[in-house]
Amino acid sequence: MCFRTTLRQFYLFFFIVHLAIAAKSTASKKSSCAFKIKYVEVLVNHRKKEIVPFEYVDPADYAHLVPTGEEVKDVVNEVSDMVSSHLEAPKELTVVVHDKDDNMSLSPDLMQLTVPAVQVENIFAKKTVESDPTHKKTSYAHEFGHALYQINIFRFLPKLNELRAAVYKLREKRADQLMGEKVKDRKKKEADYVRIVNAINAADPAYNEVFADTVAALYKNDPEAMVKCIHSKKCGSLTYEGRSLNLKDYVADEKKWKFSSNDPHLMLSPSRPLVGKYLKNGPPGWVLERVLKVIASQVQENYTQLIAAKGDVNVTPGYVKEMNRRFIKALEEEFQRCPSVSACP
Ligand SMILES: [Zn+2]
Repeated sequence: MCFRTTLRQFYLFFFIVHLAIAAKSTASKKSSCAFKIKYVEVLVNHRKKEIVPFEYVDPADYAHLVPTGEEVKDVVNEVSDMVSSHLEAPKELTVVVHDKDDNMSLSPDLMQLTVPAVQVENIFAKKTVESDPTHKKTSYAHEFGHALYQINIFRFLPKLNELRAAVYKLREKRADQLMGEKVKDRKKKEADYVRIVNAINAADPAYNEVFADTVAALYKNDPEAMVKCIHSKKCGSLTYEGRSLNLKDYVADEKKWKFSSNDPHLMLSPSRPLVGKYLKNGPPGWVLERVLKVIASQVQENYTQLIAAKGDVNVTPGYVKEMNRRFIKALEEEFQRCPSVSACP
């Protein structure tokens, strides 16, 4: 949720609950997301700082991790039901619960949600402090929002995989160039690599974060839900404010805009309150469908530009400002065209 996906999670005890969500025949039917715990796997030799194979062990030893798995299951069920009138939910989701971390994440390729049983403010601190568990469900809803994004965006952008593959190829080319360089010549190539990674983040993941924050806000019925759930002191004040869907007068006044040019969670902060403005215009699934439709058009435009520029796009503050202007305009247009379920052509 909060920036890092690192291998350090592999160093910790893992408890994996494979949860099968009952298949839904159509997106318009009420979801019946029954889960089943299929089996349990635990990573052994966790003290070694290396990835070791999973082995089957007695799940009773890890019973203390089960309530977290159950809690995630409940939230995923509730969010699936909440959006089922207009969005598709994943048919199967793997939830990995481990002892302790300051982060949680979703791997969209594996449809795997990794969560800690105990969330701490900073896992690297000498003495770890547990985060306020009150808002854990908001985080689960946010991460599950990424799964919904991954599954549903293709409806509005069928050639997304093609576009992604093209930019990843450009990124790989940069990585190959970097590998071939002598250390003293690497600096510029490294900067080129960072630049393309940032441009890809601006093209697609930045919108994914807005979508996931919107899922969390709708689930908690609170546009400030994400602001309340972020605890890590490392995140800084912009992180709190930048995740709000509720900053009054913020969208119209560009002088008040605060955003990041390299963190996809915060690139589209100025646009979030506009999504917040329309949160109550219809059922959650319908609102998310409108937002996702707009996002798909932005992502298509971003990737097309990036490919045309052969990956040579510099994500400057001016570029991010323009991204926000374009997103805000497109959201306004969509909700004017479709102000409510009954007035949506
Ligand atoms: Zn996220």
